[in-house]
Amino acid sequence: MVNQSEVEFVETIVPMDFNYNIRAGKPIEDYLRGMAQKKIMGSKCTKCGKVVIPPRNVCGVACGKMEMVEVDQTGTLQNYTIGHVKITKGLMEPVEEPVVLGMIQLDGTNSLLVSEIRGVDPKQVKKGLRVKAVWKESPEGKFDDLAYFELAS
Ligand SMILES: [Zn+2]
Repeated sequence: MVNQSEVEFVETIVPMDFNYNIRAGKPIEDYLRGMAQKKIMGSKCTKCGKVVIPPRNVCGVACGKMEMVEVDQTGTLQNYTIGHVKITKGLMEPVEEPVVLGMIQLDGTNSLLVSEIRGVDPKQVKKGLRVKAVWKESPEGKFDDLAYFELAS
């Protein structure tokens, strides 16, 4: 019998690829339909007025119902990080140019959206920058139709 405390484990990374086909639910379906039209959809609480993206069915415990609203495509950078690697299927590899990942509060919303920010020197990035959405040329109703954000003029 092997004493478990004496067993040496060899660790490795095994890239895995999972594809799920699930019903997204009405709020996310509306969000993705909006993406196909280069619109960002959120939900607004009928009681407290908070607007969140992506949309959802309920605001919070014992709060109001949510109604679908289109939100602004400009916002303010609230936080960010500079990435020097990318992770694809669990494998990390260095990137040629640093990537700016921002947490953006779109105007009129109460939640944050995480997206890449392009066209800005990572050394010049700071909280409070004004940014706007940039879309894929031919959106397909997918999350990555909203390609990235750039500085708003
Ligand atoms: Zn509410």
